[in-house]
Amino acid sequence: MKIVHIASEVFPYMKTGGLADVVGALSSTQADSGHEVSVIIPGYRLAMSHPDALQSERRLRLKIEMGEKFISGDVRVFSPKRNLSIYLICRDEFFDRRNPYGNGERDYEDNAERFIFFAKSAVEAIRLLDLQPDIVHSHDWQASLAPIFLRFSERRYGLTLAIKTILTIHNIAYQGLFPSAVFELTNLPRELNSVDGLEYYGQVNLLKGGILFADQVTTVSPRYAKEIQTTEFGFGLDGVVLSRSEGIIGLINGVDTQVWNPKTDTLIPARFSSNDLKGKATCRTALLRVAGFNPQFTGPLYGIVCRLVEQKGMDLLLENEEFFLKQNCRLVILGSGDQKIEARIRELQNQAPDKVFLNPKLDEAMSHLIEAGSDFFVMPSLFEPCGLNQMYSQIYGTVPIVSRVGGLVDTVIDIDEYATRGTGITHEPNAESLRAALKRSLVLFADKATYQEVQKRGMQTDFSWKKATLGYEKLYSDAL
Ligand code: ADP
Repeated sequence: MKIVHIASEVFPYMKTGGLADVVGALSSTQADSGHEVSVIIPGYRLAMSHPDALQSERRLRLKIEMGEKFISGDVRVFSPKRNLSIYLICRDEFFDRRNPYGNGERDYEDNAERFIFFAKSAVEAIRLLDLQPDIVHSHDWQASLAPIFLRFSERRYGLTLAIKTILTIHNIAYQGLFPSAVFELTNLPRELNSVDGLEYYGQVNLLKGGILFADQVTTVSPRYAKEIQTTEFGFGLDGVVLSRSEGIIGLINGVDTQVWNPKTDTLIPARFSSNDLKGKATCRTALLRVAGFNPQFTGPLYGIVCRLVEQKGMDLLLENEEFFLKQNCRLVILGSGDQKIEARIRELQNQAPDKVFLNPKLDEAMSHLIEAGSDFFVMPSLFEPCGLNQMYSQIYGTVPIVSRVGGLVDTVIDIDEYATRGTGITHEPNAESLRAALKRSLVLFADKATYQEVQKRGMQTDFSWKKATLGYEKLYSDAL
């Protein structure tokens, strides 16, 4: 099959979260299975400075109609491996910035223009480079207008550009919601600026357009597929999701075991497996050292890696600061994003610098060290479409403590509910239930034999992309 992915992030060229890991692993596995795969991403500064991208060549000069104006851009391409091409949509004014979406306090003012330009350019690249995909697979709001632009481009030029379009929602909380005037930039027929189109309570909602117009809509776990059809988790789009009569499919993400594998990981100081955990102890010592703690510490070491946004439940964690201040434990947090959340964690660190450590950066190597070196991984998300870190933790023998939402429900088995199968500790998404879960972790940690059993069960679970790739293959062939 010829497959084109359109996404704002792909690992290792641009990553702020799970989207990058998923598009990276999915496209790479599909290429390995013999499909001809292209991935179209914005030419962000970071992506452009990757050694692979430095070898890229310019393929096209684009002129994109944006409202009354025409805006130009370049399409560059490189191929990191057989069957895989990465196309970069370049326009320095839009993408040559330090961060992809905003400055940490606020989103960029011109995000609508940037990503409408991106989606239109992706479609123009498909047309002008004659890629002839069977499937165009768009991801999240930044690419969600591609299915509509494809259909209108087909109509305008009398061509078939893609046989089927798929939209995957990685997080319905991010919708690309903009003032109504932005509609002009789409150059779509005016009747699409209505309830049956992109209009959403007097604004323009890009994700809504994708949900309505893609041939098939999917999301990243079965549980989340159900949740986003409810007012509690649908962020106002539950009705739109429900309007898709054939339903929405939930396919759980896999883990890229080339990148996340304790037996081969070169980003950590020692390698290990479920049969030999000595290397994990080395990683634990290294992590304690990096955090400035006593490397001999023997109590439970809790780790967190996440974007600092409300979704990740740092409020629930901070409401449990007593636990971390009073218990004989250590807490290491790697997270960047919202500066207010960062400041509150920093306050906790200031209260107990010998127990709490925050690294407020994006740091790929440290994220691996935390997964490898912690005893528990804490993920008290308020909602979680799939979540990857809870799977990484299990693979690295770090017992996850997660809230019972979305993909976390599909990937962590509670040890008290299922004593012989349990792989982690689950709680309701509130502070009190998290407190109980943290206390349960102390009991588990004190019982070394049971702790090790839980640890090994997690390590032996198959989280690879094999299953997920087959799921997408079936989805594509069913769609075709
Ligand atoms: P989300 O997609 O909502 O951010 P996921 O759990 O699906 O959450 O994926 C998060 C990915 O981003 C993981 O690979 C995680 O390790 C990574 N990540 C998040 N924050 C950081 C950070 N500060 N430094 C390095 N990696 C991070």
